[in-house]
Amino acid sequence: MNYDLTPEQLSIKENFSKFCTKEIEPRAHILDEADHEEVKKLIKENIKLMASIGYLGMGHDEAYGGTNLDLISQAIAGEEVAAACASTFLSCGSSSGLFGVPVKLFGTDAQKKKYLPGIIKGEIIGCFGLTEPGAGSDAASIKTTAVKQGDKWILNGTKTFITNATIADVALIFAYNDKAKGPGSGVTCFLVDKGTKGFSVGKPFDKMGFRGSPTAELILEDCEVSEDAILGKVGHGFIQAMQTLEYGRIGMATVSLGIAAKCLQHANKYSKERTAFGKPINRFQEVSFKLADMMILSDVSRLLIYQAAWAKQTNNPESAIMASVAKVWASEAATQISSMAVQVFGGYGYIKEFPVERLYRDAKLGEIGEGTSEIQRVMIAKDLIRKYAA
Ligand SMILES: Cc1cc2nc3c(=O)[nH]c(=O)nc-3n(C[C@H](O)[C@H](O)[C@H](O)COP(=O)(O)OP(=O)(O)OC[C@H]3O[C@@H](n4cnc5c(N)ncnc54)[C@H](O)[C@@H]3O)c2cc1C
Repeated sequence: MNYDLTPEQLSIKENFSKFCTKEIEPRAHILDEADHEEVKKLIKENIKLMASIGYLGMGHDEAYGGTNLDLISQAIAGEEVAAACASTFLSCGSSSGLFGVPVKLFGTDAQKKKYLPGIIKGEIIGCFGLTEPGAGSDAASIKTTAVKQGDKWILNGTKTFITNATIADVALIFAYNDKAKGPGSGVTCFLVDKGTKGFSVGKPFDKMGFRGSPTAELILEDCEVSEDAILGKVGHGFIQAMQTLEYGRIGMATVSLGIAAKCLQHANKYSKERTAFGKPINRFQEVSFKLADMMILSDVSRLLIYQAAWAKQTNNPESAIMASVAKVWASEAATQISSMAVQVFGGYGYIKEFPVERLYRDAKLGEIGEGTSEIQRVMIAKDLIRKYAA
């Protein structure tokens, strides 16, 4: 086993760090404070900026304009993006990952040609519509339906909490085409373009964190799509969603790590500059031990993320569990680390002008999005019991 990054991975880290520090980080606070119309404009610009250095194509095939890099390289770049602006990470990830990955894995050649080059260039924005007002953790209980009428499909239902909903050109919509068959073979995924009759977007949610990444409902009212809109095969939607979320969980772990790493960087610098009782506060053990704990927690996150990425890359049968382990650890570590960072900043940590305030609000989503911590633990425990119960 070799823990060293390859020369290519080291240069990815350096290039993304430089680019994001210069181009993305200065916009993070502005995005966080902007009203919704401004957010839409700014986040689209950020998506284009990230596309300009190839970020959105890292996981995609060269035939469509991607660079087809390994998942560890993607995590390395992702940590830098998230450290600069977590909202930018989330919106890019929803478009090229949650939307782009299932199109790559399950789409027809025509669907890949239609969407992937634009997604990779940041000219098309995608989103992933699984969650509903009554079905989040229990995704199998979605109520959206797809009914075949002649050569058309009619979709009805509401999706909620959808990242990029207000800026997306296209959405993946998961719907029951045959409830009696259950989720395993009764759900189908549809590609629904913006502007399709009967397809509309709700009011954006006013969120605690990730305020620079728009979130809203998607509403389907007798929305008519053709057979070509089916992703892969009829009845395969739920499995496609679960497979996509495995990548998504590594992504949520990575955004949590980026937030944590940025908190440590700010706390380290501030504690050196801030004095109390005649000395820098990092000379007090209570403060320096917080810095040490922040490093211990975030280093473990990074190792678990690389392990999960490597497992997924090499088709390890344990990869789904490793992704859950990485997500639980990295997200819970990030909420602890961001809280410690606010504490190190004292009163200033509570003021919006100081970045740890935003990082503290952003961190919490890691424990909720793409499967809550509780659901990850349910899956980890089920797997353990299956393997080790007598
Ligand atoms: C900012 C944001 C962006 C999002 N983006 C998207 C997106 O792009 N696409 C998308 O489809 N969804 C998206 N989501 C939805 C997200 O994935 C869900 O919010 C999440 O899966 C939890 O579902 P829920 O909100 O319905 O909570 P619930 O399922 O109602 O859970 C409520 C609480 O009950 C607990 N709970 C539920 N079931 C169990 C159980 N069996 N055992 C133990 N505890 C349990 C949960 O862990 C949680 O603590 C987003 C959410 C947010 C907040």
